[in-house]
Amino acid sequence: MKKTHTAFVGLGGNIGDRRAALENALAALAGADRITVDACSRLFESAPIGMERQADFMNAVCRVQTALSPLQLLAELQRMETAAGRVRGGARFGPRVLDLDLLLYGRVRCAGETLTLPHPRMAGRRFVLAPLVEIAPEVCIPGHGRAADLLAAVAGQKCRPLGDLLYSAAAAEKKLKQRNVSSGTP
Ligand code: ADP
Ligand code: MG
Repeated sequence: MKKTHTAFVGLGGNIGDRRAALENALAALAGADRITVDACSRLFESAPIGMERQADFMNAVCRVQTALSPLQLLAELQRMETAAGRVRGGARFGPRVLDLDLLLYGRVRCAGETLTLPHPRMAGRRFVLAPLVEIAPEVCIPGHGRAADLLAAVAGQKCRPLGDLLYSAAAAEKKLKQRNVSSGTP
């Protein structure tokens, strides 16, 4: 198999059944070719930033191993947003059914037309940092330092864990095996 890279994906949404949107996105990621989800944070609820008169968001962060390039992974995330019913061209920072951001891809730093890495606003957002640190306590954000050390500066932002595990790699693997057994695939 091609060399894989570790990446972190931020999930968010504030329209409709927010929890279901994130659970479905995780299932889509776990089922995608050349992507393995190996950790996921708890579910968090956060107040909107940038455009305040809208519903609170639910957020989570997952870690993936992938053989896709950064741009291929971003394209895949955008395809999943569209499949979930996200309509592009709405208000910047406005309501969305599903937002999938590529937060980190290894230690890659880039600033292109379609992709900036690390994600340009992640270091100042508690709803990214808190779930990120939960699954990767020592992770560094290139150019910013340890994610855990950035949390104090955003402590004033409203963001709380809802307690539930959104996804467990073990449960997903079991489900996949059951599916293979019932379809006769070894
Ligand atoms: P945001 O998530 O910042 O609120 P959008 O989801 O609407 O905003 O993304 C706007 C654009 O940001 C996308 O068209 C995408 O090309 C670009 N973008 C740049 N870097 C990233 C990244 N690391 N992750 C996701 N989108 C990115
Ligand atoms: Mg986005």
